[in-house]
Amino acid sequence: MRLILLGPPGAGKGTQAQRLVAKHGIVQLSTGDMLRAAVAAGTPVGLQAKEVMASGGLVSDEIVISIISDRLDQPDMKNGFILDGFPRTVPQAAALDDLLKKKHIKLDAVVELRVNESALLQRVETRVAEMRARGEEVRIDDTPEVLAKRLAQYRSLTEPLIHYYSERRKLLTVDGMMTIEQVTREINRILAAVAATDAKAAAKKAASKKAKPAKPGKKPAKAARKAAKGAKKASKGAKKAAKKPARPTKGKGARKASKAAKKVTKKRAKR
Ligand code: AMP
Repeated sequence: MRLILLGPPGAGKGTQAQRLVAKHGIVQLSTGDMLRAAVAAGTPVGLQAKEVMASGGLVSDEIVISIISDRLDQPDMKNGFILDGFPRTVPQAAALDDLLKKKHIKLDAVVELRVNESALLQRVETRVAEMRARGEEVRIDDTPEVLAKRLAQYRSLTEPLIHYYSERRKLLTVDGMMTIEQVTREINRILAAVAATDAKAAAKKAASKKAKPAKPGKKPAKAARKAAKGAKKASKGAKKAAKKPARPTKGKGARKASKAAKKVTKKRAKR
């Protein structure tokens, strides 16, 4: 399964991504996590990204696209992945389309977690309090001021992706205001429906491929012969149906109807 998780900061993308990872054995690709690791390791990318991230700005498209491109080439991607925090802009989405096309990877779905903005600040505050209680280091961009900036950025730069993926028939929207469990259940339900539809379409494609007529001179394959026979039968039935008028003019039904009509006429004539 190859997915994108879309939603504003604090929508629960990270939590749901972890659950999808556990359920499907896929890999979570969080550009935020990768960039934080680069900052912590002091790599050239980390040095470039550090200031921008601390202020709640966006790291350049060039950097994030190259990180994702490299990561998609790793062998652990074969089971699938879930992109969390990428793409964040329309140019990033277009670049991802190109990357996936080049690498012959099909995107299955984009899951949007829709949340009420006023609840987000409260959620982020809770997350910070929980991290502090666990003795974990708190993200420097998890402050009310920086969150406000990240939210504004989401609205102006990332939200257009909802339309982008909706146009491409990839978007699935889930109410992110439900409990974590309910959101997980809903995501699992819609992804199962997507998988079932895809499997059906793939089976249909495979059947039509098998049923294709063989090249002239070649004996048609068994499946093709069967399909041709079925088609002949269906067309015979269709011809018969076309010939048959909607109302019976012949046969038992027609005779019954005309008898009844005669009876009515006789009755009227007697009056
Ligand atoms: P996140 O953990 O997804 O909230 O990301 C934390 C920070 O990393 C963001 O505020 C950005 O500064 C940076 N970042 C993460 N993903 C991207 C991306 N796709 N494009 C640009 N900057 C990003």
